[in-house]
Amino acid sequence: MTLPIRQDPDPVLREVCAPVTVFDEALVQFAEDMLAAMYDAGGRGLAAPQVGRTVRLFVMDVAWKEGAPDPLICVNPVIVSVAAEVETREERCLSLPGRAARVARPASLRLRWQDLSGTGREGDFDGIAARVVQHEADHLDGVLCIDREEAA
Ligand code: ZN
Repeated sequence: MTLPIRQDPDPVLREVCAPVTVFDEALVQFAEDMLAAMYDAGGRGLAAPQVGRTVRLFVMDVAWKEGAPDPLICVNPVIVSVAAEVETREERCLSLPGRAARVARPASLRLRWQDLSGTGREGDFDGIAARVVQHEADHLDGVLCIDREEAA
């Protein structure tokens, strides 16, 4: 069964999510279900509150639309640093169907997160991946891209 995706103005999208503390089979299954829902909906990223769970977890895959799936699951993600360079891009969100927002964000960043076994990871992201990371991390704090939309 595909997880239904919540849409604005569902109040769950405005909650600040709680850290994941239990790394078990249920978490693995949840992450797999989230990836399936993301692919099914044609997205590049999906955060747990978008499927009604207020925990700090998101999934992303910026490569699958080009035919080479490369899923990433980030548990308890923390953006530890961002570049001074800022880029403005149009963002879409599976919780905001039919809408787009032009948002300025740092062009690259360093992220720290845990994998599904609870092991700490760290990596650098740029381009579309940096964009998706920041968009999904915002979801975990109840922030939507339309909140950051630039004045036309
Ligand atoms: Zn979104």
